[in-house]
Amino acid sequence: MQTLQRLSKHIVYLPPVQETDRPILAAVTGNKKTLIIDAGNSVRHAQLFQDELLRNDLSGDFLVLTHSHWDHVFGLENIGISVISQEKTYNNIKDMQQLSWEDEALDQRVKEGAEIPFCADAIKLELETNREIYLPLPDMIFEKKMTIDLGNVTCVIEHVGGDHAKDSCIIYVPEEKTLFLGDCLYANLYAEKWNYTAKQASLLVQKIEDYDADTYILSHHDQPCTRLKMEAELKLMKECVRAVVEHRGNRALMEQDLAKVLNRNLTEDELETLGFFVNGYVE
Ligand SMILES: [Zn+2]
Repeated sequence: MQTLQRLSKHIVYLPPVQETDRPILAAVTGNKKTLIIDAGNSVRHAQLFQDELLRNDLSGDFLVLTHSHWDHVFGLENIGISVISQEKTYNNIKDMQQLSWEDEALDQRVKEGAEIPFCADAIKLELETNREIYLPLPDMIFEKKMTIDLGNVTCVIEHVGGDHAKDSCIIYVPEEKTLFLGDCLYANLYAEKWNYTAKQASLLVQKIEDYDADTYILSHHDQPCTRLKMEAELKLMKECVRAVVEHRGNRALMEQDLAKVLNRNLTEDELETLGFFVNGYVE
């Protein structure tokens, strides 16, 4: 059973569920208004969050989408509040309105490489037999950046893109020194091989480093990430960006190089990240 967690004075969230690919849903509350982050992967998921908020005397006034992947937007149907999204997210949702989510259509898209098996399975599991998805379009659209004043608490929403999704946005709450990263730090999963590209990764790291945060929220991570952990993660990304170019995507040389830089053997997670950079290398 998922229950609401309090992160700080102004922020609560519902933890993620790995099996059905439910991302974190969060609410940021000021003196005047509450901003909800992401709609969830089904009406059921969105309803659970709404019920949990109500139990805590909270309700959303606006909702912002971190990006248009199914697990963040399928809960939009009965949301009933104004939805904010980046331009690309809006356009992607418009395209998704045309798609069928029945077994046959999903399996066909997996075969064509337009959908990935993990998502198709999670969609079947989460939605069971009810695959009639009504996706309303967002109400407010921005291109680069916007700020919302919730009353003594602000949310800065910035489009950052990256390999995972071109429309990825992050949400910064300066009063709480908290940065919601959505899925932007994850690899591109919609490719033959999961990958990071040096160009997109280095741009993304720079954008994240612009924000002074102590707490980072990644949508599919169980625990919030500390500044120390995020610094290590971003350092690894930067070293991988450098090494993949320097060694022209040669995995063995990159591993040697990074082990030398870190002065130890690489962990499983670090090797996985390095492998994604190898996969994304183009001459
Ligand atoms: Zn995603």
